[in-house]
This record gives sequence, C-alpha cells and structure tokens, in this order.
Amino acid sequence: MSPEHVDVLVIGAGLSGIGAACHLQAERPGTSFAILESRGAIGGTWDLFRYPGIRSDSDMFTLGYDFKPWTGPKAIADGESIRDYIVETAREHGIEEKIRFHHQVLSADWSAADARWTVTARRTDTGETVELSCSWLSVCSGYYRYDEGFRPEFPGEERFAGQMVHPQHWPEDFDATGKRIVVIGSGATAVTLVPNLAADAEHVTMLQRTPTYILSQPGKDPLAELLRRRLPAKVAYPIVRWKNVLSSTALYQASRRWPGGVRSLLRRLTARQLPAGVDVDTHFNPPYDPWDQRLCLVPDGDLFGTLRAGKASIVTDRIATFTEHGIELESGAHLEADVVVTATGLNLLAMGGMTLSLDGEPVDVAQAVSYKGMMLSGVPNFSMVIGYTNASWTLKADLVSRYVCRLLAHMDRRGLAVATPLAPPEGADLPFLDLAAGYVQRSLAQMPKQGRRTPWRLHQNYLRDVRLMRHGSLEDEGITFAPAPVRTGQAVA
Ligand SMILES: Cc1cc2nc3c(=O)[nH]c(=O)nc-3n(C[C@H](O)[C@H](O)[C@H](O)COP(=O)(O)OP(=O)(O)OC[C@H]3O[C@@H](n4cnc5c(N)ncnc54)[C@H](O)[C@@H]3O)c2cc1C
Repeated sequence: MSPEHVDVLVIGAGLSGIGAACHLQAERPGTSFAILESRGAIGGTWDLFRYPGIRSDSDMFTLGYDFKPWTGPKAIADGESIRDYIVETAREHGIEEKIRFHHQVLSADWSAADARWTVTARRTDTGETVELSCSWLSVCSGYYRYDEGFRPEFPGEERFAGQMVHPQHWPEDFDATGKRIVVIGSGATAVTLVPNLAADAEHVTMLQRTPTYILSQPGKDPLAELLRRRLPAKVAYPIVRWKNVLSSTALYQASRRWPGGVRSLLRRLTARQLPAGVDVDTHFNPPYDPWDQRLCLVPDGDLFGTLRAGKASIVTDRIATFTEHGIELESGAHLEADVVVTATGLNLLAMGGMTLSLDGEPVDVAQAVSYKGMMLSGVPNFSMVIGYTNASWTLKADLVSRYVCRLLAHMDRRGLAVATPLAPPEGADLPFLDLAAGYVQRSLAQMPKQGRRTPWRLHQNYLRDVRLMRHGSLEDEGITFAPAPVRTGQAVA
C-alpha cells in the first residue's frame, strides 16, 4: 500500500516550520501539506530552552515574521513571549491541525521514477515507524542537536561536590537563592544567565576563556514605541523592521570594512558602563575582529548593571582543574562555587540528523553545494532553512519559504515536476558558514559547501538576498527543471 501523500512535507514546528506552513497556506492555497515534529510542542528553540532569563539576542522586529507584526512591549523578548508568538501565528493560520507531533524524521529517499520523496519517521511516543510521501521536502529542523548541548570535559570535574547544570537541560526546580554560581562561557547564553541568576544568588562569576564583543541596546525600541501610538501595527511594524535591518546591516558592513574603528567604538561604549576595577581590555576586548564571531546584544546594559551592583564579577582565565569546592584557574586563583553552569554552547546538527538518499544511494551532504543557501546540488525538490549568522534567523526563513512558493508556482505554470540544483562547473571550496565561532568550526565537516559566485554564494546579506530571492529569476545556470517522469506502460499525451 502506498503511504499517505502530501504535496509539501515540512520537517519541524519551530519558528521556521510554522513560518513555512503559513506561507504555503497563504500563497499556495491548493497545495496539501503536513508538518512532522519530533517533540510534543510548537516552538523549537523557544520551547526547549528554559534557563532563567532566556531571551532573543536579536530584535523581535526582525526575528518576527514579515507577515505578523511583533506587538510585544520588548524589542529583545523573553523565550515565553516568543513561544507564544509562534503558537499564536500557527493558531491564526489554522496550522496546528497540520502538525503531527512526536514524529522524528529519520530518513528521506527520493524516487526518480515517481518524482517523490518517501519519508520515514519514528513515533517518539509509541516507537512505531511511519511513512509518508511528498513531492517537495522542506526541512526546517534548525541547526543543532536537541538531545545534548556542547559540553567539554573539564579536568578534575568528578571531584566537584556541587551541582553542574547545562543551560539546554535546565532543572525545573532550580533555586539560585543564596548560592555562589560560576557560569562558564562568554556567549549569548552566559551573558543572559549572569544578571538573571544574580537577582537571587549570593554571587555569580562569569568565567570566560576569551572575551566577546557586547553591545547594549534599549530593551524597548523608541521608534516602535512612538509609531505604535500613532499608526496601525501593520504600518508601524515594517518601518521598524526596515530600520533595524538597515542599522544592523550597516554595523556588520562597517565591522568588515573598518574593523579597527568599530573595535574601538565598541570598546569605548563598554568601558563607559563598567565599574572601577573591571578592566575593559582584559574582559571585553576579544582577540578577533567584530563579527568574526556573533556580537552579543544585552538589553539596557543589564550585564553591566549587575557588575556595577557587585552582584556578579567577570574572570578571564583558563580552568586548571575543578576542586571539591569550585574551580582552580591557571593563574592560581580559586573560584568557590555551589553551582557551575556550563554555558559552553551547542552541538550543530545538519537536517535534524535525518539522512537523504536518491533511489537508495546515500547523499553525502558535505559534498553537496548549497544553491541560494537553501537547496543542495544534485538533490531534487528539496529546501532547507538555515538563517543568517549576522542577522535575525527569520529574515532568511521568510525569504526561503516565499521562494519555495514562487518556485512551485513557476513549476505548475510550466508543467514541471522536478527542480534540481547543479554544482558550479568550477567546483566549490568555501565552507557553508563563515563564522569563527567554535560551535561552527566544530561542525563544518557535516555541512554542504558554498561556491564563490551567485547563485552558490551565501552572502549573509539580507538586502542582496531580497533582490535575488524575491525578485530574481527562478531559472538560472544553477538549476535544472524536468516534467513529471513518464512511467513504463503509461501513455504519453
Ligand atoms: C538559546 C538560543 C537563542 C537564540 N537566539 C536567537 C536570536 O536572538 N536571534 C536569532 O536570529 N536566532 C537565535 N537563535 C537561533 C534560533 O535557533 C533561531 O532563531 C530559530 O529559533 C530557529 O528556528 P527553527 O525553526 O529553524 O529551528 P528550531 O527552533 O531549532 O526548531 C526546529 C524544530 O524542528 C524539530 N526537529 C528537528 N529535527 C527533527 C527531525 N529529525 N524530525 C522532526 N522534527 C525535527 C525540532 O524538534 C524543533 O521543534 C537562538 C538559538 C538558541 C539556541
């Protein structure tokens, strides 16, 4: 018996999967689709992470969908509000009933003879194996492992008598009251945790090996506040969105062109907010240029406020060994701790761990070349959402989802059934992501490559992508199209 068939199968019910479904619903009313989600809830990242203070580190006017105004009070919002926004979007568009929860996709096999994918999923609630087929596979599975975060082994950690916690698996009953907490890390998670834990803890120490660039941003957007009082949300939202797109693009481009100038600007802004005794060059002046790694935003300088209040401190050093009561550093200093939080990052995972094959032949994703940052050379009727590393994820997710709708409409008009990207004739040698961050570098080997020119180059530039993906041609040298295959014994009209 052939499995149930849908036109488009979306994998993942996070920010990207719900967005993809809403675009399909609005722009392709006759297209049937379903969403397979391995967890039991909508929201992905914004449902999984539950550590104190969990929030976005980019503004919600660009992390929100282009079709649904963000009306929350904060520009940098907490995880719960973002989750509510995603759930509300799904509800408003009637997407909830299209989601099959507890379906973890394991593999997808393309049949050239049938021009369709057969997707195999394991039910995480019953253990049952389920198959579905689809004409287009849209992978919105995020970019990291859900079952475990990145957690290096530290020397002597077995000696530590206190509690160790990873932010990806935050204990529901955790109580910071009166505790001495060391947060290991320097990224967005660490700078979020420090002020939030410090509210109750006796003291919080942020222990970092390497500093990060940290930029304070108003928690509420003054332009949004002003426009919302005078204009309907549908008018105010795109104005604030574009203001933020342009200002973050300008900061990124300036960082690339004049790294020295941007470095000293960020240094000055930070130094102004530090209390006496916290040296900006030791703790906030990274050895790399701005935007070689993601820049961290903190709302209303909350991290600096906590340092000024003496509720937290920052230490830049290396761990020599854990002791029974804390951490001994290479400098010889000892940090006393009741709790150590390892905010050491994520483990990247391509396509939610699912495998792809073409007529039973495994696809080596690492050998494929990405086309417009959303399809893979040699892989038909397939798209994936990987957001920007230098701007909000959703800016790219919306572009990809709209592009898929445009492509499907184009194929319908021309009586085509199969779209397959090609690799550039000169080959491709650039890594998929151009970010020096450890979590990216650790995982590049499982990522596709990118080429040196359009349409294989991933520019990480929203303005360029708007031109390419919203207004650019759907047919170019990087993609081939074919009509539905004629099966043996089938009459040709
Ligand atoms: C703590 C944290 C903070 C972040 N803050 C920001 C920010 O401020 N700005 C920003 O732009 N980005 C941020 N990001 C990146 C963030 O992941 C994206 O913003 C966005 O949430 C990604 O949405 P997504 O739907 O693509 O992926 P996810 O949110 O990861 O959702 C993927 C969904 O797919 C499901 N799934 C995965 N594999 C399978 C499978 N094999 N079968 C079935 N279902 C599967 C998962 O269960 C999940 O529900 C942050 C990430 C983290 C971890």
